[in-house]
Amino acid sequence: MATKKLIEVALPLEKINSESEREKHITQGHPATFHLWWARRPLVTARAVIWSSLVDDPSSHPELFPTEEDQQKERNRLFSILEDLVVWENSNDPSVLKKAKDEILKYTNGIMPKVLDPFAGGGTIPIEGQRLGLESYAYDLNPVSVTINKAMLEIPSIFKDVSPVNPDAKSLLGADISIIGSEGIKSDVEYYSNMLRDKAFKKVGHLYPKTRLPGNNVENVVNTWIWTRIVHCKNPACLCEIPLVRSFTLCKKKQNVWAEPIYDGKEVSFKIHTDGSSDKKGTVGRKGVLCPKCGSSLSLDEVREIGRSGRIGVKMLTMIVQSGTRRVYAPPTTEQLLASNVQKPDDYPEGKIAYFPGCLNTNRYGLDEFHLLFSNRQLTTLLCFFFTN
Ligand SMILES: [Zn+2]
Repeated sequence: MATKKLIEVALPLEKINSESEREKHITQGHPATFHLWWARRPLVTARAVIWSSLVDDPSSHPELFPTEEDQQKERNRLFSILEDLVVWENSNDPSVLKKAKDEILKYTNGIMPKVLDPFAGGGTIPIEGQRLGLESYAYDLNPVSVTINKAMLEIPSIFKDVSPVNPDAKSLLGADISIIGSEGIKSDVEYYSNMLRDKAFKKVGHLYPKTRLPGNNVENVVNTWIWTRIVHCKNPACLCEIPLVRSFTLCKKKQNVWAEPIYDGKEVSFKIHTDGSSDKKGTVGRKGVLCPKCGSSLSLDEVREIGRSGRIGVKMLTMIVQSGTRRVYAPPTTEQLLASNVQKPDDYPEGKIAYFPGCLNTNRYGLDEFHLLFSNRQLTTLLCFFFTN
């Protein structure tokens, strides 16, 4: 009789589903907070799938569980192990993990199998394999995915059970206290990334001034600046600035926020609204670009040509200001515009962006060098991290 794995017969789906749903709202200690990945899968689902693919269903062992009743009893026991395993808070609980690992070893001749994910993406399968004690391998074509997986799987495993080297942890923990698991590398990453941040802040912090919201005297940190690229309308009677945006809607989640293009002569600026919704579509469509002022259109080929001749400009559309726990969209202030107006550094790395005909790429718009993808302020800050000593 062919052996059947638990996953082929039955699973406690309700519990797995509710825990997967709950995981979406975990904000601390989850890889999602570590780096954006666009198609992240719930960790606890992967954990359940890997585990139940390795553990046999009791019906595969009639010598141990001869009657259906015996099999159901054993299946219920396996379910209870799995139901503990998928609880987020148990992710690093040694006793829960040991129970799960022992069960895998029963059906794999005492040898932990290896897991290979050739399309690892955000690393859900390899990290859950590693958690269950499997030697995990992750591949991906996308270098972002490879970096995420290196940082999440490979580097921590190299430094497993290694003492930290930063002076704070040494004085705090003493030289002879052994560090368990990843606590050593965690302490070092925290210490040295804070050091790097503080040094960088000394060099470029002044380029990112705080701001006051209208009617409020408190200085707030600006989290984000949203920019738009600009071309000029080709209608000789208009020649206005056209912001290249697919939509004027800025936020639809907790509040409705949208930008209204306002013209002073040929120059565009934006009014930020927090009620109602925009009656204007974005300017960029599949076929081309529409001028919000006069309604004239430009084909995408014309916009690309403008880009290749270096005539696409940029404009700050809005800033997102942290006010207590709220994120407030506000129009750019003169001070913020001045602070963003940074001279281009002269020691940026040069490099051509590869061009793949038929693919979505920036080359067609004249953005064919990596440095062209960044604002001068971004370049300055990136270089400062590069050369901070
Ligand atoms: Zn126009």
